Amino acid sequence: MNIRVNDWISLKPEYLNHEHISGNKLRKLKYNLINAKAKGFKTLLTFGGAFSNHIAAVAAAGKEYGFGTIGIIRGEELHNEFTHNPTLSFASQYGMNLHYVSREAYRLKSSKEFVEALHQKFGEFYLLPEGGTNDLAVKGCEEILQKDDFSFNYICCPVGTGGTISGVINSSKAHQKVLGFPALKGDFLDNEIKKYTQKTNWELITNYHFGGYAKINEDLISFINWFKTTYNIPLDPIYTGKMMYGLFKMKELGYFTSEDKVLVIHTGGLQGIEGMNNKLKTKNLPLIL
Ligand SMILES: *Cc1c(COP(=O)(O)O)cnc(C)c1O
Repeated sequence: MNIRVNDWISLKPEYLNHEHISGNKLRKLKYNLINAKAKGFKTLLTFGGAFSNHIAAVAAAGKEYGFGTIGIIRGEELHNEFTHNPTLSFASQYGMNLHYVSREAYRLKSSKEFVEALHQKFGEFYLLPEGGTNDLAVKGCEEILQKDDFSFNYICCPVGTGGTISGVINSSKAHQKVLGFPALKGDFLDNEIKKYTQKTNWELITNYHFGGYAKINEDLISFINWFKTTYNIPLDPIYTGKMMYGLFKMKELGYFTSEDKVLVIHTGGLQGIEGMNNKLKTKNLPLIL
């Protein structure tokens, strides 16, 4: 069921899909888990940074569906502080075997040599790419929109690797426009999305990334806190907060008419708030509620 936020926005609460496998990550994992089971894999291996929603989701999904999990984590220095990092300590508690690599090594993670070395070390595993995007992930995200959603003429979705929005675009109708809000800088995303969809009823809104992935400022924090106090809906600082901030700014700037009906996909990510607050504390910035 969508939540009516105000007279022009409704929200699809994907963040309520599962307690620990946040929103869109459950959608992205669904057919991968079915495929891994069917092929007899016992272990899932994937990659991510210290605050990654995907890492937390894979750890929780592995525990729930009976897979061992291995997380290749960017940044060797994290090895010593993982107990202070809420995402990594969660993953570890859920049984994920965390393996830290340098940023340089991490950059090569998709290379054949790197994956072969991982097989030497860990044996057989089902590989999920960073962020979890592949064909089966997109297929899972095609199930986000339901038939009641076709009355909206705009659909908004945050973008990281582009898998989620690709699924949403594939199941959208021609009279709908899908707006993607990238959480990071870079113009490679258009091409990523074009790998997974043939449709053209979409556009990326690229001016609300706040300087890059996991970068935030006081303006964004006060917006997230205002939104929570006003509508009683939590937003995460990395994806959904930036999207909603952008959307409200666009409304102010006259992007939408009074006829427009906007559906926002709340993709989850709330597990990242605690880690972000730890960071904000050290900078003496206000915390996220
Ligand atoms: C991972 C994530 C996204 C981005 O999804 P992609 O499929 O990588 O574009 C958006 N929102 C939240 C909350 C996420 O955790």
